[in-house]
Amino acid sequence: MRARAKALFLDRDGVINQEVGYLHAKEQVRWVEGIFELCRAAAELGYKLVVVTNQAGIARGYYTEAQFQELMEWMQGEFEGRGLRLDAVYFCPFHPEHGVGAYKREHEDRKPGDGMLRRAARELRLDLSSSVMVGDRCSDVAAAQSAGLRQVFLLQGHETERCAGEHQAVKSLQEVQQWLAVAAAAGADELAPGADDESPTDASTAIRQKTAKATGLQNKTRGGRS
Ligand SMILES: [Mg+2]
Repeated sequence: MRARAKALFLDRDGVINQEVGYLHAKEQVRWVEGIFELCRAAAELGYKLVVVTNQAGIARGYYTEAQFQELMEWMQGEFEGRGLRLDAVYFCPFHPEHGVGAYKREHEDRKPGDGMLRRAARELRLDLSSSVMVGDRCSDVAAAQSAGLRQVFLLQGHETERCAGEHQAVKSLQEVQQWLAVAAAAGADELAPGADDESPTDASTAIRQKTAKATGLQNKTRGGRS
């Protein structure tokens, strides 16, 4: 049986596209700098790309689920045009106070709940303990914590509170990309056959070389952007 895959969970608004408040039309989309480079690097390292997004705009009746799906199909096309693919998109259309009709309810999917992450783990056969999340709100941090992810990044700029729970605050998606490269290099070293035979000096040299190689890959993909 194949080992479970790891995922890079991405919040959408404020992480993939810039936060504009209840985004629902492609004309409003401005990409967050470095999102495609991050996704390319993650995919090359074996992470599945999984979007987990609260969509209170649906609950509030600002736009429909169909409009949301249409926008996500367009986004998927934008990713595919860059040789990338979002493996899955999970969204929560409910809101406990501001929802209209059937959309007004509590739901485990709504972050800080971890329902979307756990469902993704079941459906995509993910190992949550080796997966990573990038969000821009404390609710993203809380959901990731609750699901037991390996690492949680908070992209700074939108959250005014200090988030509870262990996480790493970053100023750019490039910092996340660098972390993935370093983590992969360290992991490859642990798994490398004969690593025990090397002296500590050789082992640390090997980590540096692997990190340099991984970083070189990033530079190449960045350079390839047009
Ligand atoms: Mg967000």
